[in-house]
Amino acid sequence: MPTLTRAEAADRASLVDVESYHVDLDLTGDGDTFRTRAVARFRARSGASTFCEFEPVEVASITLNGQPVPPAAVAGGRLALDGLAEENELVVDATMRYSNNGEGLHRYTDPADGSVYLYQHLFINNGGRVLPCFDQPDLKASFRVSVTAPADWTVATNGRLVSRDGGRWEFAPTERISTYLASLIAGPWHVREEEHDGIPLALYIRATLAEQLDAQAPEIFEVTKQCLDRFHEMFEIRYPFGHYQQAFAPEFNFGAMEYPGLVVFRDEFVPRSTITETEREHRASVIAHEMAHQWFGDLVTMAWWDDLWLNESFAEYLGARVAAEATRFTGTWTTFAIHRKAWGLRADQRPSTHPVAPAEVADTDQALMNFDGISYAKGASVLKQLVAWLGDEPFLAGVNAHFETHAYGNATLADLLRALSKAGGRDLSGWAELWLRRAQVNTLRLEAHRDGDVYREVAVVQTAPEDFPTLRPHRIGVGVYDHAGGVVTRRELIETELDATGRTVLPALAGAPVADLLLLNDGDLAYGKIRLDDESAAAVPLLLPLLGDSLARAIIWASVLDAVVDGERPVAELVALVLAALPAETETVIVEDVLRATRGLVDRYATAETRPAALELIAQAADRLIAASEPGGSRQLIAVRGLIGATVDTARLSGWLDGENVPEGLVVDADLRWLILYRLAVLGVAGPDAIEAELAGDRTATGEQWAFRCRAAVPDPAGKEAAWAAIVGDETLSNRLVELTASGFWQAEQRELLEPYVARYFAEMPAMMRIRSGMSAEKTVLAAYPAVMVSARTRELAAELLATPELHPLLHRVVLDNDDDMRRAVNAS
Ligand SMILES: [Zn+2]
Repeated sequence: MPTLTRAEAADRASLVDVESYHVDLDLTGDGDTFRTRAVARFRARSGASTFCEFEPVEVASITLNGQPVPPAAVAGGRLALDGLAEENELVVDATMRYSNNGEGLHRYTDPADGSVYLYQHLFINNGGRVLPCFDQPDLKASFRVSVTAPADWTVATNGRLVSRDGGRWEFAPTERISTYLASLIAGPWHVREEEHDGIPLALYIRATLAEQLDAQAPEIFEVTKQCLDRFHEMFEIRYPFGHYQQAFAPEFNFGAMEYPGLVVFRDEFVPRSTITETEREHRASVIAHEMAHQWFGDLVTMAWWDDLWLNESFAEYLGARVAAEATRFTGTWTTFAIHRKAWGLRADQRPSTHPVAPAEVADTDQALMNFDGISYAKGASVLKQLVAWLGDEPFLAGVNAHFETHAYGNATLADLLRALSKAGGRDLSGWAELWLRRAQVNTLRLEAHRDGDVYREVAVVQTAPEDFPTLRPHRIGVGVYDHAGGVVTRRELIETELDATGRTVLPALAGAPVADLLLLNDGDLAYGKIRLDDESAAAVPLLLPLLGDSLARAIIWASVLDAVVDGERPVAELVALVLAALPAETETVIVEDVLRATRGLVDRYATAETRPAALELIAQAADRLIAASEPGGSRQLIAVRGLIGATVDTARLSGWLDGENVPEGLVVDADLRWLILYRLAVLGVAGPDAIEAELAGDRTATGEQWAFRCRAAVPDPAGKEAAWAAIVGDETLSNRLVELTASGFWQAEQRELLEPYVARYFAEMPAMMRIRSGMSAEKTVLAAYPAVMVSARTRELAAELLATPELHPLLHRVVLDNDDDMRRAVNAS
């Protein structure tokens, strides 16, 4: 689809006011096309000309106000509309194409039973792939949908089902919603239904995962109901879109999408194999996140993508908060501290960083790139800080006033600030300028000066990067911890406001007895890079396992990992800490995240000489975790996955596949078998025959996906060539299969074999961008990046590509950022 610019959108919004769409889809054909008959009703300035998005394969007829529109009016994904009247009716009958990249109307065939499933994803500028529409967030309209489809299918949309007659479905018109939020699923879905507080609930999944959904539905419904209740306590406007349906769809690009009344998740959220507590918690917070969007995003929508953060930062913040407050998953802030926040901090230090709320997002390509750690994690962290600074009651009062004023419409940053300032009695414009309008991150470092057994002075020093010299107000906690008799206890929590002068002394600690650990940012209110004082940092290996509070441990781990990324500490020191402290870790999300992050850092920061020893130490840590874990529990499974990723003991892994010496309680189920096989493939022990044999026993969607990933990982020249050809040139491969192929391709173990592909990446990705689009293209260039090929040569090639004129902006962004990550790794090694 063509990129829509901010200026074009503003122009069009000044001319057009959309009333409604009626979309009538015929999905009965079995080729790669479907038929759309659509009626769009809109008002316009009389005599004006504009366009709508529309990308048909073949047009049967187009009429505007009863007059035929020549086919030549359709070009480049747009339909020119000239000579508009005050009241207009556009009627279209056309053949459209299904997609295999997760955009428009995605068509998927389940390899296990041959069933076809469709889901619609119009975001960010793909509305024209399904219907003619004015595809921008501030031209809201009511959608009425009719569908003709095979009679044994189930069809669902945002709107309520009004009638069903064999293969014909009629849905009620929706409230006014943005085009990117129009949702539809169709296929022989397995359905579960319940009701809560007068709201009909439904879950959908493809038939081959019916058993798994049935087993997990009680928990999904419970979380859904608990979150609905909590949102109804917080917000004065009740859930506004009638029913609350959640579909789990194959090959979905996002984790999930917040369509009003019909949320769509990727179906990996209902795994067929053992599900860990970490995965359950993640699912609960995503359920809460998408539900938060029903208000932030769906009821009140950003006017343009500048205010994407109004959607994502709020949903991310409320997702963690509401899951923690309303469900049994009370540890979501720990996950946020160690996992999500690191994502935000990394994005914020890259060359492509941008403010949480940029003043102007030029076009839809730019907007797509802003779905990053800044719009989600930094924004949420900043909101957490705002709530600490403003108080919760004024915050919620302001939010409710904002909903009340803008329900079913659009709003901007200025609108929200007005409501919050009024409710809080505190002018937020200065705060917003520093936190929302300026990019980059501050480093907060604790300095503790001693006089014998007492502190002479303890201060927090705030610094900013040279190019972004902004210091900010922070509300922050400092925990004072003592170690005695094998127990670490918190003596005191000091909360203070850092001003923007750069150095804030903590008077409460002057003359206080020296502590064993001072934990800066205890409680995780602040957004910043956290560095402990030297004595506290030195005490971490001993004290970390003794800290009772998982959030405190997460803050320390995150700080250590960040210091390694920055090259302040060697990766060997991190690996030593993992071996010393991780085996005692009980919080599964910390175990999982530290193992994954350490493994990734070893791949990029260790040298060829030091890497094997580092991996061996990670494997030892994982083994100790397995020994310390309850048989059959989540921690055991997470540790086993960590072990598989690090070990080179192929005999042991092969033995597990044959049921030999399997740790007690561990179920080697279908996906764990594939994970083992994947590692054996990377190490050159399992080849194409072993992969095909495993696939023969597992002809499922997940089995097929694993097979693609495994084939790409085999260190065999012909296999690598075939995988590369698929990544850069196979249009028939779906978004998910390309992504998994790319994710299996680069392996730190295979550097020599892969060397020629480094130059090929930079030479061939521009052409790849012409055959894939949008998020699928972005995910492919990212997954295929030679991140493990850390060398000055890789950086030179990146610099050459970045200097190419008219490089696609998505490719430019991925290369720019990944090259910056590599700069750190090159400097550190
Ligand atoms: Zn979201």
